[in-house]
Amino acid sequence: MLEVKGLTKVYRPKKGPSVRALDNVNIKFEDTGMVFVLGKSGSGKSTLLNLIGGLDSSTSGEIIIKGKSSKAFSQSDFDSYRNTFIGFIFQEYNILQEFTVGKNIGLALELQGKRADAAAVGKILEQVDLTGYGARKPAELSGGQKQRVAIARALIKDPEIIMADEPTGALDSNTGKQVFETLKKLSKTKLVIIVSHDREYAEYYGDRVIEFADGRIISDIKKYKAEGKAISAGISVIDGSIMHVKAGHEFSPSEKAAVIGFLEGAPSDMILSKDERSNTEFRKMARIDADGNKESFEDTTPQNTKLKTYDPSKFKLIRSRLPFRHSFKMGASSLKTKPVRLFFTVLLSAIAFGLFGLADTMGAYDKYTVTYNSMQESNINYAAFVKSVGYKDEERDYVSWTNERMSDSDFDKLAQKFPEYTFDKAYSMTDTDFMPYLYESYGKKFAPGVYYTRNPYGYFGSALDFEGYVEVENDGFNARGYTLLAGGYPSAVDVSAGGITEIVVSKYIYTFFEDFDYTDPAEGAEDAEDAEDAEDADPAVSTLRKTEINAEQDLIGKIITLGDRSTPLAERQKFKIVGVVDTKFDGERYKELKQPLESDVNVMDMLLPMELANMGSYCYHTMMFVPSGYRAALKEASGQSAFVNVRDQ
Ligand code: ADP
Ligand code: MG
Repeated sequence: MLEVKGLTKVYRPKKGPSVRALDNVNIKFEDTGMVFVLGKSGSGKSTLLNLIGGLDSSTSGEIIIKGKSSKAFSQSDFDSYRNTFIGFIFQEYNILQEFTVGKNIGLALELQGKRADAAAVGKILEQVDLTGYGARKPAELSGGQKQRVAIARALIKDPEIIMADEPTGALDSNTGKQVFETLKKLSKTKLVIIVSHDREYAEYYGDRVIEFADGRIISDIKKYKAEGKAISAGISVIDGSIMHVKAGHEFSPSEKAAVIGFLEGAPSDMILSKDERSNTEFRKMARIDADGNKESFEDTTPQNTKLKTYDPSKFKLIRSRLPFRHSFKMGASSLKTKPVRLFFTVLLSAIAFGLFGLADTMGAYDKYTVTYNSMQESNINYAAFVKSVGYKDEERDYVSWTNERMSDSDFDKLAQKFPEYTFDKAYSMTDTDFMPYLYESYGKKFAPGVYYTRNPYGYFGSALDFEGYVEVENDGFNARGYTLLAGGYPSAVDVSAGGITEIVVSKYIYTFFEDFDYTDPAEGAEDAEDAEDAEDADPAVSTLRKTEINAEQDLIGKIITLGDRSTPLAERQKFKIVGVVDTKFDGERYKELKQPLESDVNVMDMLLPMELANMGSYCYHTMMFVPSGYRAALKEASGQSAFVNVRDQ
């Protein structure tokens, strides 16, 4: 299921020499079992986990998941891979302190679009041996129990792989054991990869132990059962050195001779023990089971590794989106404190009630009138509508929500319902074959904080992206009450290979370049390593490619490409920024989100990131403004070109 091939990671710190944290690492993992990654501090264990988890990119080499190479992954594939395929367990627990254990799990269930009733929560608690702990607050749990709540949360997405980096690092050995026991149980059906420096635990719990030193594998061993060699029905010999005799066995003359033969010629003193307690101890230490078989380790080889073959074309990642129901709850709880949040609450409730059929939860409530009045009162002049459809995956008891394209008649219905408003069609980027991520246009793939990534649940940033595109006519911004800060309206459309289409970006997108500089896309810069590595390789290139952006005007004329990294740069569609428009994004309000989120966040801390996430998904700030006719051109080119594939409405 999982394979790493030639994996190499070179860190190039700003100061000091570069570090080869991983050096050509090759591992083929079986689909289940408990794999320990051992090694001294600095040997590359965490780096390996981060790369496998898609939290960081490798300098060279690849990760193959169910036959599909990470090289063929887009950024959003990586996001879904992280969000649905892999469960992470960190040393810090990542649980919400204000909520009970049950509520913590319930929220995590809802975030995955699953039903969060008592039965569902109970089922998860049972899996981590915490039945009956649902009503407790995290503060009333031991470290080991908290860690198991964290495991429970990781389990909710029903990941196929669970990864833990020193999961018991903060625990004493006894509580550590409980965590390992729980993980061991889970490893019967999942691949569990654990980074640890504790050899004793690794050998006790691990089905496989891979040891690292200086970024390389120095040993890779696998547990196997050395079966005792039976001399007769009651006597067996393990590994030629331990004799196992069943209780109450009666020795025949030939057996007596065999026993004497075994005992004679021993290299050191021997102990023949009838003492039950000593024998139990010995059994445990030498890992001999009741049938006289002994667990030992042997080198991992292709012969003793059970690998399934996967058809890469069958590999599907579930795109996870925050269910609105949850956003609504969060929004409602903050309603009293911050009036501005009313906007989002109202917006989300309109979407949730209107399109999710949740109206019965608020029987007598005239949602349209209330929404409309609230919007008026709060001076809100626009709202977003999306159509979202839930698909139930019976096998995994999982509902995944996907936003579906509104049909023209959906659109007409809305326009009729709200005649006072002007409606814009915003097209999602996801049905074009290029992904809307601005990889090449700045040096770092992962911006710190969630200000630009708008993904508070991933815990980690991902690249800035456009959520969609809107066609604008000349003068179209005035009609919407927006002002152009620099440049003008877009007009050129060219969707052929390598063609350049003119766009206007929002001030929000502009500030991204102000913060991170504009980097001219260059062939090969994004290959295998991130652009930073390429710059290090040739400083002259880096100065040439990088431009500081200090005013809106500086961005005019700049070309960006959106990240389909498998298409050569020359053939990729390009966008020339011809204008910057103020869509009234309140940057001040969110500016603290430019810092990384703390790992121990509480609910209130999450409100602002959630608000930004929702807004980012449904506002003009994240739209690319294209000339009218752009979509028609895309549609016409669809089918003729390998990288334009516009779905029909
Ligand atoms: P381990 O988890 O085994 O302790 P790591 O994978 O964290 O080891 O680190 C491997 C090597 O890479 C170490 O020498 C470490 O200093 C270096 N390293 C890790 N992360 C970075 C980074 N972001 N920048 C520079 N060097 C790093
Ligand atoms: Mg580490």
